[in-house]
Amino acid sequence: MSQQPFQTEVSQLLQLIIHSLYSQKEIFLRELISNASDALDKLRYTTLTDSKMKSFDFDPKVDITFIEGDKPSLTITDSGIGMSKKDLQENLGTIAKSGTKNFLSKLTGDAKKDSNLIGQFGVGFYSCFMIADKVEVSSKKAGAKEAWKWVSDGKSGFEITKDVKEINGTTITLHLNDEGKEFSSRWKIENLITKYSDHIDFPIFLTFEDVDYDKEGKEKSRQSKTEQINKAKAFWSRSKNELKKKEYIEFYKTLSHGNNEPTDWIHFKAEGNLEFTILFYIPKKASPDLFRADYQSHVKLYVNRVFITDDDKELLPSWLRFLHGIIDSSDLPLNVSREILQQNRVMAKIKSNSVKKVISKLNELAKDKKKYDPFYKEFGRLLKEGVYQDFENKDSLTELLRFKSTLEDGYTSLKDYVSRMQIDQKSIYYITGENENSLRNSPLLEMYAEKGIEVLILDDEIDEIIIPSIPKYDEKDLKSVNRSGAADELDDKNQEKQKDKEKTLKPTIKKIKDFLGEKVKDVKISNRLSGSPSCIVADENDPTAQMQEIMRSMGQMDMPDIKPILEINPDHEIVKKLATMRRGKSFENAALLLFEQAIIQEGGKLKDPSGFVKRLNEVLAKAI
Ligand code: ADP
Repeated sequence: MSQQPFQTEVSQLLQLIIHSLYSQKEIFLRELISNASDALDKLRYTTLTDSKMKSFDFDPKVDITFIEGDKPSLTITDSGIGMSKKDLQENLGTIAKSGTKNFLSKLTGDAKKDSNLIGQFGVGFYSCFMIADKVEVSSKKAGAKEAWKWVSDGKSGFEITKDVKEINGTTITLHLNDEGKEFSSRWKIENLITKYSDHIDFPIFLTFEDVDYDKEGKEKSRQSKTEQINKAKAFWSRSKNELKKKEYIEFYKTLSHGNNEPTDWIHFKAEGNLEFTILFYIPKKASPDLFRADYQSHVKLYVNRVFITDDDKELLPSWLRFLHGIIDSSDLPLNVSREILQQNRVMAKIKSNSVKKVISKLNELAKDKKKYDPFYKEFGRLLKEGVYQDFENKDSLTELLRFKSTLEDGYTSLKDYVSRMQIDQKSIYYITGENENSLRNSPLLEMYAEKGIEVLILDDEIDEIIIPSIPKYDEKDLKSVNRSGAADELDDKNQEKQKDKEKTLKPTIKKIKDFLGEKVKDVKISNRLSGSPSCIVADENDPTAQMQEIMRSMGQMDMPDIKPILEINPDHEIVKKLATMRRGKSFENAALLLFEQAIIQEGGKLKDPSGFVKRLNEVLAKAI
């Protein structure tokens, strides 16, 4: 039989594959095994659905053999659906798929641009011409009598002749060229299969020569051996109902290469328009690199159970980087590149669906404080990142946040805070700083404590950055008690009294302000103190002391020194006494001490600690 030419598009595609994928030529094996697995899938489906084929007996498997030496070859045989003469002609001589045709029509002849495009679709069978100069495909359709052989050098065209084949399925023989001779090796093949095809759910057997040598290195015996190389089990593709808790935990251990048990997992199969499976595990402990910029992703991408990548941080939003698991979809092309994945609509849908599934699992966990609190302690920071970065899910993530509080032990949610709010309370109050203990004892909280108003204790440095992105919750403003003005609205009834006090203390305040000079932005009468004589706060729009620290640690060294506001308690004895004094050494010592003690209580550092001690001792000496 004479040779038939390839369809023009096939020649184009062959050229393109050979020129743009040579650096990843090993993927040919993945492609051929994936085709074999598809063929087995199809036959399996047919025997299940076609009444004529119901009793068709087949042993689903893939067999690989190879020949070393100066004429190296590699043979891949499957017992799948097989191809008729017409199938061979159409599948391996033309390009029927509109997607691929459409892709090829976009080719510009610019090699660089074109090779970027190739990642958009599965390169498939033709990739074997990267490593072979002659390919034979012998196939017998399941249920048919005759077999056919397709032969090509991948250049001019192909030939189809009659063949003899006992068992249905396809045998592909690759006559390896210089680029491909390395693949006629037991270790190489085993490696590639473990890397890419371990989870193909049909067994893959490799036949090799087992040679035994004597002490002198002479060949003693030679035996042909066949071993199954893959586990042949795509764990996640199994039905949820048939999988036991123990098995999920075991699989997690393989995935995480560890011995810990997970907190929980999400196993979900989407069927219909978009087909994909996700299996995500929520670990108990954060991996040590979780908060480093060069963290490792723990989510693997599979296309139809064929491993694609475990090194793509874009598969999920970065706040979900604590998850371990897999995403598997049959709606993505096998040869999908990272660039393509980022723009791929199917991937975008899988991603957003995955996020929704994880959030709903977290909502479920959140119902059980015993489970959720330890999770939150470990990963709460990432949820805060999510609130900050993931606009689409900001609201549901905000519900998942937990805070320490002046009224509740452990963690509380914003929702619970609101449910405890006082009838006339308009805002949600929080205090920020780095030390929980000093926050709990801060003079800034005195008035809130007196009125029984709950304040959230935010002692994580990231809070300063995150919380401003939640200006309101349930129509209520979130207000920092570290800022001036936060307490004003709580004090409606006392405003008249406050004005009177301001009038009386005006000269004293002026004296203190003149004396402290550059140290403060302002000196004001406080309406939030009861026990303490003074406190410092940030001006409404200035970064707080804590925020300034973070900015400095992030390298913003040249940040201007932002001055605090000193608030004094008009009802405190010291302040009352100061009001009767003239400005002199005693007055100045006392004023400075008021300022310095407020800084210490904020958790701040004094610029002149020995001066502080000296002043304190002078005052003490007089007092005792
Ligand atoms: P794809 O697998 O993406 O469809 P390929 O170029 O790899 O593209 O294969 C083209 C077609 O050839 C397949 O769709 C399938 O119908 C057929 N084919 C390839 N390999 C086999 C095989 N081992 N058994 C049966 N059919 C096959």
